[in-house]
Order: sequence, then C-alpha cells, then structure tokens
Amino acid sequence: MLQSTEPRKVRVPGRQSSLSLEDITAQAEGLPDFDGHEQIWLGRDDSRGLTAIVAIHDTSLGPALGGTRVWPHESFEAGLTDALRLSRGMTYKSAIAGLDLGGGKAVIIADSKTQKTPELLEAYSEMLRALDGQFYTGEDVGLTLEDADFLRARTPNVTGTTSGGSGNPSPVTAHGVFLGIKAALAHRRGKDRLAGIRVAIQGLGSVGWSLAKKLRKEGAFITVSDIDPARAQKAVDRLGAQSLMGDAILEADVDILAPCALGGILSRETIPLLKASIIAGAANNQLATDRDDNLLGERGILYAPDYVINAGGLMNVAAELAPGGYDADATMKRVERIPEVLTAIFRRAEAEGRTTEEVAEAIAKERLGRGRS
Ligand code: NAD
Repeated sequence: MLQSTEPRKVRVPGRQSSLSLEDITAQAEGLPDFDGHEQIWLGRDDSRGLTAIVAIHDTSLGPALGGTRVWPHESFEAGLTDALRLSRGMTYKSAIAGLDLGGGKAVIIADSKTQKTPELLEAYSEMLRALDGQFYTGEDVGLTLEDADFLRARTPNVTGTTSGGSGNPSPVTAHGVFLGIKAALAHRRGKDRLAGIRVAIQGLGSVGWSLAKKLRKEGAFITVSDIDPARAQKAVDRLGAQSLMGDAILEADVDILAPCALGGILSRETIPLLKASIIAGAANNQLATDRDDNLLGERGILYAPDYVINAGGLMNVAAELAPGGYDADATMKRVERIPEVLTAIFRRAEAEGRTTEEVAEAIAKERLGRGRS
C-alpha cells in the first residue's frame, strides 16, 4: 500500500447530492482497489445529469494528472472501482515514465452518446474548478478533444486541448505501443521484424486504428474486432484485415494480441483461451485482477504492462506542463525510450523469476521512493 500524504477525503462540490459523504468514504475504503487513495471526490448534480468521481491516488511526485472517462457503468460501485484502478495506474505510469506527476483519474457515469450534454459538461467544469489545481485532466474514452476544449474554456487544468494545447494524444500513444510491440517481439524472437507477424487488435478507436495502420505498413497481418461494425469494416476495406465478432478476438490464432478497447479482459476465464504469445496493447487495466499476471506467466505469455507501453499519451499531455511549454520533439524522444524501459522489465522479470507486472510495479515504487527528479 502506498503512503498517502493526507487522509481520505470525499467532497461534493455539485449542487445536489443524494449520496452521503460517509457512505461514499466507507464504500471506497471497502473496495479491493482502494489502495490508500489520498482523495476521492464526488461531483453530483442531478438537475444537470452529473455523477462524477475524481480519484486522486498519490501526489508524492507532483499534482495528479489523468483523463476523464465517460462510461455508463452499471452501478456507482463499478464506476468507483474503475476510477480507483485507473488512478492508481496513473501513479505508476507517471512514476515509471520519469514524470514529476501524481496519479488521478475521473469517471463520469453516463452514456457519452446520449447523456453527455453541454449542461453535464458545464457542471463537471465547476467540479474541476472546485478542485483548484489538484487534478489535471483531459480526454479519455467517451470524452473527446472538443469536450476538452469546452472544459478548458471554463476552467484551467485541462490538458490535450486543440487550441494552445498538445492536441490529440492518441497517435502518440499508438506510436509508443507500436514501438513497445517491436520491443516485445525482439525480446521473444530476437528480431523486431513485423512482416508476416499476425496481430489481433481489440478496439479500433483513436489508438487502435492508428496502431493498425502502423502495423500494416510494416507488413503485419491484422485481425480486428470492434463493437462498432463500421470501424471493423473500415479495417477490412482499407487494411485487408480479418474481422472477428465479440470476444472471439481473444482466441484468435495470432502471434500478438493488442488490447485497445477497455480493461479487465485478461482474466481467469480468458487467459486459458489465448493463442497469442505476446500481449501488448494500449488499454488501461488489462488484467482483471492483480493476480492474473501469474496466469499469463504460467502460460509463457509475454505481457507488456499496460501503463508502461501506453504512456505515450501521458508523456504528450504532461509536456504541456513543462517549464518551457509543449515541445513535440522532446516528447517524441521520451516516447522512443518506451521500448528500452519495457526491455529492462522483460529481462529483470526473467532474471528474478517474477512477472513483468510485478517488476513494473517494483520499478514504479522505487521511483516513488526516490521522489521528484
Ligand atoms: P476510443 O474510445 O477512441 O476507442 C475504443 C474503441 O474500442 C472504440 O472503437 C469502441 O467501439 C471499441 N470497443 C469498446 N468495447 C469493445 C469490445 N468489447 N470489443 C471490441 N471493441 C470495443 O479509445 P482510445 O482513445 O482509442 O483508447 C483505447 C484504450 O487505450 C482505452 O482503454 C484507453 O483508456 C487506453 N489509452 C488511451 C490513450 C490515448 O491516448 N487515447 C492513452 C493511454 C491509454
């Protein structure tokens, strides 16, 4: 458990709340993913449709930074768990990426297609303002660059905006994942040539599509799935990809599986079905539970820890906060070090007989112990 500098706090900056602070505190502390979070904020405004959770995990390296996810979780607890897991991941991601930032993440429980109204975003911008610089946020699943611009016009501490910001982080994330896939290939097979290598990509959103194009360009054979059939069809038409429905992608007969949709897909149920010998993709929190990396290890599957391989987007938005402002070249140089970090993790895991996830966490904690760079 990480040390927290402050006791847990829960506040409700929204106009109305039907959930008591004590209830939320008790609920958060009782969840397996709580892990000593410094703060958890609830923003609730029923009249404008907002239920938002901001989880701040650890700020020992700097202010918390993490995207805002808009997702129709089936329960408040599911949304809270998502926020807790994602924010802890951001702590480790920043630490291992060598950034002086802490870990946080926001979840707005809503359907981004039907419930993400200007009123809801307006209410959320008020919540962000109330956080007063403790939390920097930006786009994530369900929150677009336009939404980030909308929020930025109303409150500071929104990164990755189109005007004056670093813009869309997804191509940078995809580049880091692409380089990470090559590092995994080199580690496993001795060379990083992608020609003829079969890669399955789950999720063809901003990152998945960009990654698919890069892989195809280097001669990889692509298999895809997306719950949006039009996205999968586009990959079939333009990249000659094979398209699979639903979870069949996890069982695809491929060399590499690149999860680029949502988390929790590597579980006790799915791991025995995998045919890929490498898992390397952008999705956050790919392991359903902290113990599932052992199952991957037992099956001899090389796993690139998600928060290491997908750190490119964070590096891109974090560059906005650097003293000299955003520098695209410097950011790319940082992203190009992702393969080096991954290779060190793969080697250390083998040398110490531990999983790559355990080693990544150990490296992140070592950095947290050393403090700011
Ligand atoms: P996105 O919303 O643009 O794309 C997600 C895609 O996955 C969509 O096309 C969606 O239809 C599809 N999808 C959802 N559930 C699916 C399922 N069960 N099976 C198949 N497809 C499914 O998101 P994105 O920005 O491309 O991010 C993808 C993942 O990478 C997310 O987990 C995100 O948190 C993570 N990530 C993204 C960035 C970034 O820079 N965008 C950075 C780090 C991590």
